[in-house]
Amino acid sequence: MDSSLHPPSLIDARDLQLDLALQLLQQAGALLPEAEPYSAEWLQGLLDALCDLSSKDALTGLVNRRSFEMSLSREVDRVARSGEPALLLMVDIDHFKAVNDSYGHVAGDMVIQAVARSIAQTVRPMDTVARVGGEEFAIILPNCPSTYGATVAERLRERVAEQKVEVATGQMLQVTVSLGGAFAPQWVRSSSLLWIERADRQLYRAKAEGRNRACLEPQTDSLVSAEEKGMLFAVTQQDSE
Ligand code: GH3
Ligand code: MG
Ligand code: MG
Repeated sequence: MDSSLHPPSLIDARDLQLDLALQLLQQAGALLPEAEPYSAEWLQGLLDALCDLSSKDALTGLVNRRSFEMSLSREVDRVARSGEPALLLMVDIDHFKAVNDSYGHVAGDMVIQAVARSIAQTVRPMDTVARVGGEEFAIILPNCPSTYGATVAERLRERVAEQKVEVATGQMLQVTVSLGGAFAPQWVRSSSLLWIERADRQLYRAKAEGRNRACLEPQTDSLVSAEEKGMLFAVTQQDSE
């Protein structure tokens, strides 16, 4: 038979080994696709659910480190094109080891979840909130003027400090966070690694200055003229072609 007239379908979905994927999704409490099993729509739903699972942190439901890094490099590109101010905040719970040591790891986990909730509820829907380490979070704030950046960092600090977390023993725990922030250099293609380093440096400063505070790198005004901005924009456009 001439196969060009009747091309064989590329795969028969029923031959795929999907048990583990389905088990993982069920275990994570993810909604399974409602479409006809093994249809293209169902498979697409399954892939979407797996992508979602692999980009989220299991304890908090926030974006995980890998997905954060992808979002950050997208933001670096966006800033270089648009010149919009963007802020990266690194957040670290203060003296968290003492929480684990005094109340146990499960209580520690509950504190991490509560801090994650506070952060997510304080920022805008367009912001990306990630858990990037044990008790460390990162927030990408696109389109964030410097005055708003300072306000939101302080609001985050206050919100966490005011929050009481009830742990299994019925005790109410309170923690504080230190925050470090740096704005993306506008109109300049930079690296996300450098951006993280600059925000981290401010976080170390907040820790060294006594914790429970936010330190932001002073934002230097862009010295690039309108004409140069136009040239830079043209270059970044060519780069992507
Ligand atoms: P600092 O104010 O300098 O940040 O002090 P710290 O005690 O918070 O810092 P340190 O990095 O020494 O301690 C972090 C602790 O977080 C150590 C580790 O046992 C704990 N930790 C890391 N991941 C988890 C987690 O997923 N759950 C719990 N409960 N604890 C975690
Ligand atoms: Mg830490
Ligand atoms: Mg800490």
